[in-house]
Amino acid sequence: MALKIIASACTGCSACEAQCPNVAISEKGDVLAIDPKKCTMCDGFDSPQCVAVCPVEDCIVPA
Ligand code: SF4
Ligand code: SF4
Repeated sequence: MALKIIASACTGCSACEAQCPNVAISEKGDVLAIDPKKCTMCDGFDSPQCVAVCPVEDCIVPA
């Protein structure tokens, strides 16, 4: 399981990028994208760290 960023919702603010413990988030054009091979859905954390900082509701969702 992994999360994905809805490109049409993402503002490209980059807040999520630095929060990912697995360095799964990177720039893809004007927005950011999650590498599903690296995303562990923050196993070991209380909640997905990218979702916690994203200012846009429902921008990061299950892939
Ligand atoms: S859920 Fe966790 S591991 Fe997956 S992209 Fe977000 S911060 Fe990274
Ligand atoms: S925090 Fe949300 S809006 Fe900002 S770059 Fe990440 S996915 Fe896009």
